[in-house]
Amino acid sequence: MYEGAVQDLIDELGRLPGVGPKSAQRIAFHLLAAESADVGRLIAALTRVQEEVRFCTTCYNVAEGEQCRICRDPRRDPALICVVEESKDVVAIERTREFRGRYHVLGGAISPIDGVGPDELRIRELMARLTDGTVTELILATDPNLEGEATAAYLARLVKPMGLRVTRPASGLPVGGDLEYADEVTLGRAFEGRRLLDV
Ligand SMILES: [Zn+2]
Repeated sequence: MYEGAVQDLIDELGRLPGVGPKSAQRIAFHLLAAESADVGRLIAALTRVQEEVRFCTTCYNVAEGEQCRICRDPRRDPALICVVEESKDVVAIERTREFRGRYHVLGGAISPIDGVGPDELRIRELMARLTDGTVTELILATDPNLEGEATAAYLARLVKPMGLRVTRPASGLPVGGDLEYADEVTLGRAFEGRRLLDV
């Protein structure tokens, strides 16, 4: 529709989650009209993310360096691992200040429709973290929707022979929702009142 560079920008923006063709066009023209210093800061932020941000080699949370801030913190309880779908869920749970253990970021949830099976998630890496007996409780904090529930059930069955305490945040989380959208108080309470998963 537009020529060369402008259309390329619109196409790239349109690939971002939640950005439809109309928004992509609006953002593109906003950038075209913006001060070059503003655009420069955006470019610098994108470049830094690409060059410096990686996934933690232990928990797969986003990290600057080998390990994330939480895995590097010796005050965090190594006996507790909270399993989440994405790094944004770590942020949501951290905001509640209810959880003092560590995390494991799966990178999504089991979803046959989207072609995501257990092998596409960091489940093997999670199992490897459970072998030395340090971890005594696994909190399955996947999203309270169909995929999240299926993933939690799958993991609970998988780790059952290891004799861990397996729990799931319970009360008050909006069913069918996304963990990151739960408010701090609700999510905090859901953690406190986590229930044992019996499979
Ligand atoms: Zn980490």
